Amino acid sequence: MHWRNLRCVLMACWPYVLIALVLHASLLARSARSAEAAEPEAIRVGLARACITPENPLWLHGYASPPRFRPSEGKLNDLFAKALALEDAQGERAVLITLDLCVLRPAEAQALFELLCRKTGLERRQVLVNLSHTHSGPIIGSSDLDRYPMSEADRQATLAYTARLFDQLSDLAIAALADLRPATLAWGTGKCQFVRNRRLFHADGRYRGMGPNPAGPVDDRVPVLCIASPEGALRAVVFGLSCHPVTLHEDNLKISGDYAGFAQQAIEVQHPGVQAMFVQGCGADANSDPRCGPEQEKNVRLQGESLAAEVCRVAAQPLAPIGGPLDIRFREVDLPLQPVPSREELAHMTGAMEHNGSRMLAALERGEPLPTHHRHPVALWRFGKDLTLVALSGEVVSGYVPLLHQALGDDRLWVAGYSNEVDGYLPDARIVAEGGYETRGLVADIGFYSADAETTLVNAVIDLAR
Ligand SMILES: [Zn+2]
Repeated sequence: MHWRNLRCVLMACWPYVLIALVLHASLLARSARSAEAAEPEAIRVGLARACITPENPLWLHGYASPPRFRPSEGKLNDLFAKALALEDAQGERAVLITLDLCVLRPAEAQALFELLCRKTGLERRQVLVNLSHTHSGPIIGSSDLDRYPMSEADRQATLAYTARLFDQLSDLAIAALADLRPATLAWGTGKCQFVRNRRLFHADGRYRGMGPNPAGPVDDRVPVLCIASPEGALRAVVFGLSCHPVTLHEDNLKISGDYAGFAQQAIEVQHPGVQAMFVQGCGADANSDPRCGPEQEKNVRLQGESLAAEVCRVAAQPLAPIGGPLDIRFREVDLPLQPVPSREELAHMTGAMEHNGSRMLAALERGEPLPTHHRHPVALWRFGKDLTLVALSGEVVSGYVPLLHQALGDDRLWVAGYSNEVDGYLPDARIVAEGGYETRGLVADIGFYSADAETTLVNAVIDLAR
């Protein structure tokens, strides 16, 4: 082509070349923006921890049986309270506190949450407590003291420990909020081998009693949430399991976090400087296996180490990134209780049912009205579209995990029990129909859950998630 002709062609085409260049640049900008959008929205994280091992011997919570009718003797490992504070880009905040303790009854929970909110300035919905349910930690507060034949001095020691613990926990929440700094979050799921269903049945289907039932349902998932610095240095691992920490039996008087305490300890030994936090799941109908007996101290360590190994294995894999915004919700749901049985039925209740039976009968004889519902706190924390944590109260059976996965239609779900407060067992409708230990109902308050509690609770969680 002659130079003059080429110049004519270029002169004619230049507006199209310009348009193509502009289009290309805008496409590049858009793809850069979508890469930014794919990055999880930033969440800042703060951490704090405190050793809460009693300085002096205290009565232990768990079993409430004669071998335990005396103060603790020494310790197998220390107990800890650990706090995780979160803040998203919009300034929404939340604090999770995990405790190596057995239960927190409604009266004590109310006092604790009032203190936490007053000291931190957070709203009730923004504070969540989970108890590991170790059966080798001290009794908390006064709600359970009438079940133990304690001396006045021992009662006062328990109440003094509780008051000091609550102060420690509010200091811990404040310290975690003061530690907020940029972080990256990611999660994955593992599996645990020592979780065993504990409900045994006769050949004709009648409930037989408590013992390892390998054929029974369990939730053996191990959710693992890793928190690292922006440079990738691991700062904390929050992990869960749905299983009673009862490897140490009633003849053990040494303070211990049971398998959950040993698991946290083993992770922290393997990753110095990292805070490992245990969240109890829906482990009301599952026990650690093996448990009790002359090998219990060896077994509890081995179980802790095997759970820690699984957590570390998951943490070393590629994990799903977690981002904001945080959506922190809380609701109290009235769960229906069974109609009050006749006085004759109440008088003849035995075994695990006797506790409620005798108190209901006494209340009727005093002319007091019996409750028809029990108020059940539920927390729901959403991390953008990446993860939803549903935290139920009480000793929740494993059947609620598939129920909630189905109800929320979401596999990015972590279901915890033993949160906010723990007052007795929460069975699903199937277990209410089958009967047995997990239908024994409330412990500090009065009543047996109705089979309808399942639908009421699941619907309330669906509504809360909307
Ligand atoms: Zn329990």
